[in-house]
Amino acid sequence: MDNVKQKYLICTDLDRTLLPNGKEPSSPQALPIFQTFVQHPEVVLAYVSGRSEQLLQKAITDFDIPMPDYAIGDVGTTIYEPANNWRSWDDWTEEIAKDWREKGWQDLRELFSDMGSLRLQESAKQNSYKLSYYTEVDTILAEVKTEMSRRLENIGVRASIIWSIDEEGKVGLLDILPKRATKVHAIHFLMENGGYLPERTVFAGDSGNDLPALTSGLNAVMVKNGHDDVRREALEIMAAQNMGSHLYLAKGDFLGMNGNYCAGVLEGIAHFLPETLKWMNSSE
Ligand SMILES: [Mg+2]
Repeated sequence: MDNVKQKYLICTDLDRTLLPNGKEPSSPQALPIFQTFVQHPEVVLAYVSGRSEQLLQKAITDFDIPMPDYAIGDVGTTIYEPANNWRSWDDWTEEIAKDWREKGWQDLRELFSDMGSLRLQESAKQNSYKLSYYTEVDTILAEVKTEMSRRLENIGVRASIIWSIDEEGKVGLLDILPKRATKVHAIHFLMENGGYLPERTVFAGDSGNDLPALTSGLNAVMVKNGHDDVRREALEIMAAQNMGSHLYLAKGDFLGMNGNYCAGVLEGIAHFLPETLKWMNSSE
């Protein structure tokens, strides 16, 4: 266990956080530096994403990013071990299944079949404990969420409803998940099981579905290309709880990079774990 405690746990969202797939320019040197950085045996890498297993694998191939030690997929509902043939953690599945009282996504979608503003996502984007819809970007979300919560409560299901915008597709993404199946709970589960210490853990994110993890008190970095409204909300939450020192906003000008995507992730890691800066020297 002593050995594990020396390790650093780097948890990062993928789309528009580690992956430069948004509108803003990326710094091309960032991903090679990240590759070198995570090769250090002290560094444990976890991707924390809305993506399914198949789409996680596609991201790793398409963007040539490192194979992680763990992948928290489907917005926190599954913890995969890629090196172990993408085995998923049964312990985590059991933990979150309690909230849905043995119902799966196919049971729950019946509840919302009359709600015209919701468009069911492709079946590859659903999993046992994740029900996902597309919405308009300007849907009156509060009313929709309230009605959905009411219907879920009526059948005793404990769920969270998370809404974010897919920047590429200009479409709203609505995920219904077991209450405990958040990115932030999954990260804590990983930390407890692996013995990773909070002061050696960093999370990086960019958008609405990262907000709970960005403001959870984990050391967290928001990349510079993230949404202004998410940044504002994150700052307000942190100020109200007097936890501002646990959130870092990437600014750019770090190792000559612009703070977007992977450059922002590295900037945040260097902020919270300055002793690891020496591993970011690309000439080393
Ligand atoms: Mg993202």
